[in-house]
Amino acid sequence: MKKMELKSYYDVIIVGSGPSGLGAAFRLAEKSDKSILVLEKKKICSGGLKNDCKQNYTFPVGFPLEHWTKGEADELLLEVKRHLNPKIENRINVEKYQKRAKKIGVEILSIDQAHVGTDKSTELIKGLIKKLEELGVSIALNTEVKELKGFKKEIVLSNGDLISFGNIILACGRADYDWVQKQMDTLGVKYSDNIVDIGIRVETKEENYPIVKDYYDPKILFPNKVRTFCTNSGCAHIVREKYKGYYSVNGHSLSKEHKPNNLVNFAMLKTIRLTEPVVSGQQFGKILGEMVMQLSGGSVIMQRVGDFRLGSRSKKETFNSDLYDFKPTLKSAVAADLSLSMPAKILRDIWKSLKMLDTIIPGVLHPSTILYYPEIKTYSNRPEFKNRHFLVKDSYYIIGDGAGTSRGITAAWASGIRAADGILDPVKSTV
Ligand SMILES: Cc1cc2nc3c(=O)[nH]c(=O)nc-3n(C[C@H](O)[C@H](O)[C@H](O)COP(=O)(O)OP(=O)(O)OC[C@H]3O[C@@H](n4cnc5c(N)ncnc54)[C@H](O)[C@@H]3O)c2cc1C
Repeated sequence: MKKMELKSYYDVIIVGSGPSGLGAAFRLAEKSDKSILVLEKKKICSGGLKNDCKQNYTFPVGFPLEHWTKGEADELLLEVKRHLNPKIENRINVEKYQKRAKKIGVEILSIDQAHVGTDKSTELIKGLIKKLEELGVSIALNTEVKELKGFKKEIVLSNGDLISFGNIILACGRADYDWVQKQMDTLGVKYSDNIVDIGIRVETKEENYPIVKDYYDPKILFPNKVRTFCTNSGCAHIVREKYKGYYSVNGHSLSKEHKPNNLVNFAMLKTIRLTEPVVSGQQFGKILGEMVMQLSGGSVIMQRVGDFRLGSRSKKETFNSDLYDFKPTLKSAVAADLSLSMPAKILRDIWKSLKMLDTIIPGVLHPSTILYYPEIKTYSNRPEFKNRHFLVKDSYYIIGDGAGTSRGITAAWASGIRAADGILDPVKSTV
């Protein structure tokens, strides 16, 4: 493909074409005639928009409460809907589960959701990119920003090209948290990153977790900051994602056009807020991930619930035997022992929550159920913002999961709109 010619100046540069970057680009393009450049180091935008693409349309799912009120989120979610055109999934019998949950101190949120599926999301993204180009936005894929040139309002691309700008929005996602930290250091922006989500991914037969027939991605909140996250069913698979120095598990499913495999997977995550002297949630997550790499010979681990209950490690044979009639969908996971790999406090709270879940939906802790570890979510760079538009320095904005302004596709998109509004009306946004 021919590389696009870039100009030496743009009114706004957006780094990253995930949902937060796209949200900002659409708002700016629809409300102004500013020259806009979106830079993306990959050949297509990555993250959840490409993988599975479950969209949550009910506050507070995905919206960190320190940045959002229900009113603000609801208003911008209407805009997100206008672009992503979701088909909201049916939800039935939720009250039945909610009643059972309440009795044991668990809350089930009832959320409007849509699901695109990994096989269909590329089409969706390409459609969005095409619309942006029609609106006059320049989009350079396969183009990495190497660094910001301090306060000079210039960026350097990895090929050495220099481009200057009026405003810049860093929408880099959580995988590149360390790159964003370096840029914040250059700019003298203060930040903390003391929060991380650590957990496991559960895989079981759909008959053991039938709630998914009534509610696609049930959002269940347990005591001690444990919650379910990203449930997949239909044709559902577990994957291994590469981070810097370790792998994290994740799940996705294909669209309804695919034959179901009758499996379900979902994460059980515990939010950890670290205090002095450990200050980096990202580093903490990385260390735990690296430990699993050591114990598994460079992969992630898995254990059957039956073995876990007996206090024995799972072995390769556990997954081949005819005792259990479903095989793990993540073939590269290594049979091992969860309790050897996971900090006790995290394991205890997650296991307790799983037992509560088994009380609400009996069957999920069937001995054949598989627990994969680690699932690590490090979306916790928390810059000191100067205003509600996520301004960190005059003309510099940082948004999305990598800046703690969102935890999911729809809130990331909404963060982009809010940053764009700060650029569109800088006088109003100083208030
Ligand atoms: C496998 C997977 C599945 C997920 N599934 C869901 C889901 O179903 N529903 C949901 O709500 N959320 C899901 N999520 C979370 C969701 O992806 C994020 O909440 C959302 O994408 C965050 O948007 P963002 O714009 O902040 O960052 P991202 O989507 O991560 O986008 C950041 C972009 O910036 C680019 N970038 C970074 N640094 C540079 C640089 N220096 N130069 C140029 N480009 C750069 C990256 O390549 C990336 O494309 C999933 C995440 C993953 C990893």
